[in-house]
Amino acid sequence: MSPVAMVWPCPLPVDAYAEAGRQAGFPRPACPSCAGPLVFWSGYRRHVRAAGRCRKVFVPRLRCGSCRVSHALLPAFVLAWRLDVAETVGMVIAEVAGGRCGVRPAAERAGVPYTTARGCLLGQPGPHPRRHG
Ligand SMILES: [Zn+2]
Repeated sequence: MSPVAMVWPCPLPVDAYAEAGRQAGFPRPACPSCAGPLVFWSGYRRHVRAAGRCRKVFVPRLRCGSCRVSHALLPAFVLAWRLDVAETVGMVIAEVAGGRCGVRPAAERAGVPYTTARGCLLGQPGPHPRRHG
């Protein structure tokens, strides 16, 4: 069976979480399928990106003795970032590519700064290159 991801409301900011590693005070919820006890099984490290920086964080895996399903225990901020970074920007790009409106109104509707949306579209943040003369 494929692993299932569970999200827990991690109280730590990302830096503290990354530093804590395996000691981040993970909860041990009951199995979502059978409510049986889960045991810490292993874990893996993954990169997460926030505010333009990439960090490596530890994600523990729990395993249910009866279902034999393993569950990844994701801190809530991983999900939040994905919404922020990937899905909002993806929506902006889709609107612009569809020809419905320009970058600026799409960015405003998505609640992201114009420069961010534009930077994502063109692959280079910041102002226009300076003209000579
Ligand atoms: Zn179970």
